[in-house]
Amino acid sequence: MYENSPEAWGVSDETSVAHDSPYSMGALSPPIYQTSLFTFPTVEAMVERFSGKNDLPIYSRADNPTVREFEKKIAKLEGAQGARAFASGMAAISSAILSVVESGDRIVCVKHIYPDAYRFFNKLLAQLNIKVEYIDGNDLSAMEKALPGARVLYLESPTSVVFEQHDVRALCELAKQNNVISIIDNSWATPIFQKPIALGVDMVIHSASKYLGGHSDTVAGVVATSRKFVEQMNDRVIYYLGAKLSPMEAWLLLRGLRTLPIRMKEHHTNALTIAQRLSEHPGIEKINHPGISTPQSPIRSRLKGYSGLFSIELHESYDVVRFCNALNIFRLGVSWGGYESLAFPMEVGLRQAGEFNSLVDFGVSPKLVRLHVGLENVEDLLNDLHQALNVAK
Ligand SMILES: *Cc1c(COP(=O)(O)O)cnc(C)c1O
Repeated sequence: MYENSPEAWGVSDETSVAHDSPYSMGALSPPIYQTSLFTFPTVEAMVERFSGKNDLPIYSRADNPTVREFEKKIAKLEGAQGARAFASGMAAISSAILSVVESGDRIVCVKHIYPDAYRFFNKLLAQLNIKVEYIDGNDLSAMEKALPGARVLYLESPTSVVFEQHDVRALCELAKQNNVISIIDNSWATPIFQKPIALGVDMVIHSASKYLGGHSDTVAGVVATSRKFVEQMNDRVIYYLGAKLSPMEAWLLLRGLRTLPIRMKEHHTNALTIAQRLSEHPGIEKINHPGISTPQSPIRSRLKGYSGLFSIELHESYDVVRFCNALNIFRLGVSWGGYESLAFPMEVGLRQAGEFNSLVDFGVSPKLVRLHVGLENVEDLLNDLHQALNVAK
């Protein structure tokens, strides 16, 4: 299937996301192969497939042509040899990790990773006797000490919640020197603004529920990596954990992908405008936005743009609950990456029930509110934030 489709390699991101393979009666939009299994004309044809002479799809738990189209586009965007899509970002994270670790291994991880990844590491991986050590991603000498003997270096840059940007290239060089597999969660930047494989990362993970889908209507994930690690995922996790993406969701993602480059430009401009204007407001103590808070340095310029997600910390005299309740256009909710602007106060996240709360453990301020700046009119959004700040005073 991969081999028969016209290749879009060598063209720009804007073109490759839109270039669907017209492989079915000239359909411009890819068909949804809504089927659980694929049949074969003869026993001989089945034997050929099962003995590995070709890669025709057999069963949609492992392979489906609509899902393959999505995987192919993500591999192209990330500059990877291949990709595998999953039923959620967390399925992509857990499957990628479980495809490379063994009991007794150690993972070195940056601080402020996605809260459910933190829970997965501390609950499930701990049960499997896999240790995770959290190191400040900006402390290269601490990383240098921690990496020897580790199996995986797990990165997120910029990080969740506080949006710290790390020197991904330098961290991956250290990992390579120590034979450590590097994995990054690239959901925030998307391949439009950061291509981690070019910086030396081995496996790139996305929550496709966010910008890749772009319309807050699907939960999905994907891992883009080398042929070797794709095969390792096929061999060790895809069939057994069974968390593969469905064809219908893949179709929604292919639909969303077409506008990814243009949406990201708009998120970039809207969010940067708002972050800059808010930084002048007396009610704002701090802005966590890589375009504003990362010191001027070569690593800052490695991002080709900034997405719509950043956070603000209110001045102590401003009330977070009153601020959030007064918002009209920004709605309160988790997740991000779609059209609608959203706010998520740490007042809520810090009180989430259950063990291993990364926001508590990494010391996130209760005055912090994460904003997802969507695609509405930027002046309307600013007016909304300003009137809510007035109420919160
Ligand atoms: C949402 C998110 C995830 C998890 O993705 P799901 O699709 O919700 O499972 C992982 N990483 C980051 C940075 C996220 O924001």
